[in-house]
Amino acid sequence: MERQASCLCGAVAFRVQPSAQETTSCHCSMCRKWTGGAFLSVQVQPDQIAIDSEEAIAIFASSPWAERAFCSTCGSSLWYRVTAPGGHQGIFYVALGSFNEADGIKLTRELFIDHKPDGYAFSGETTKMTEAEVMSQFSEPPQ
Ligand SMILES: [Zn+2]
Ligand SMILES: [Zn+2]
Repeated sequence: MERQASCLCGAVAFRVQPSAQETTSCHCSMCRKWTGGAFLSVQVQPDQIAIDSEEAIAIFASSPWAERAFCSTCGSSLWYRVTAPGGHQGIFYVALGSFNEADGIKLTRELFIDHKPDGYAFSGETTKMTEAEVMSQFSEPPQ
């Protein structure tokens, strides 16, 4: 199923076709600062995204292994992408908030659960991973 997505002002527009109708939230401090809250993202392979309007896309290298794309006009968070070599390189973690229509996408996983502020919590069953669990599963060996 193809979904339309854009930033708030519309300068960036794209379409995605994720394999799974699932979203992951990340509670880490970087995602919270970047999005203003928990970052809800949908995994999209490079061949499952078509960018129709890209002039306003700006990229911030937020760490030595990943970058974050945003709209240089309105500031909307667009996607997180792993740049380091390895199994996750190039995969887009597209902001659920960019989808024009986001119904039918289930929250299944919460990352950095040990960094979640105590003032909110998502309901429903999710797989929760601490920073240590995320790092051991996703980190690349030191280069
Ligand atoms: Zn924009
Ligand atoms: Zn995060």
